[in-house]
Amino acid sequence: MDIDWEWSQARETMVSRDLRDRGIRDADVLTAMSVIPRQRFVPPEYQADAYADAPLPIGDEQTISQPFMVALMTEALQLKGGERVLEIGTGSGYQTAVLAEMGAEVWTIERSSTLSARAVRLLESLGYESIHCIESDGTLGLPSAAPFDRILATGSLPDAPKRLLSQLTDGGIFVGPVGDWHCQELVRIVYHANQFEREVLCACRFVPLIGEDGWQY
Ligand code: SAH
Repeated sequence: MDIDWEWSQARETMVSRDLRDRGIRDADVLTAMSVIPRQRFVPPEYQADAYADAPLPIGDEQTISQPFMVALMTEALQLKGGERVLEIGTGSGYQTAVLAEMGAEVWTIERSSTLSARAVRLLESLGYESIHCIESDGTLGLPSAAPFDRILATGSLPDAPKRLLSQLTDGGIFVGPVGDWHCQELVRIVYHANQFEREVLCACRFVPLIGEDGWQY
């Protein structure tokens, strides 16, 4: 049996069963997630579960988010291609690859040097050229490259940090989990004409973003 064919079948099943059938409508999100080899983003011992709709450990006590949540957050960003996107929490780099596959130029920040270095190697080996990986405290954003059309937090924040939101373009969108340590709401905040419009998308539970404008450890 051709192993590449088996992975691609597993991906197709995930996209139809866990994404399309559960309400993900953005065709570009579905296409992106049907081509990215998620098994390469998880440790070898979890590869067999790479296409289950579940978060998986990636080392350093962190997890790769479940595919449905990745799809939901990406869809919420309303990408058309060509946007400048800031991602906070590179982790495995899987969400980063989804954003790049959607046609965005991505700046992704990771606090853990181990995870950041691993993601850099993997994303390079997969041929992504529109991704900039930075090892830093992402809760402060990235003033040197701001403003961004989109900002995505892939770990939880106690509040939507003002410094991050101030790095959005007019019409820009922030998506991320905001709330307490154990349980959060996935919020979308649209910045327009000096006003922030906030919408709650669903309840969720993410690992924390540890940093100056995030959680203190
Ligand atoms: N998007 C990732 C999942 C990220 S989990 C994926 O697709 O695999 C959240 C990540 O945020 C973890 O890797 C964690 O190390 C990182 N993190 C925590 N605090 C951070 C901070 N202040 N700045 C940047 N990254 C942070």
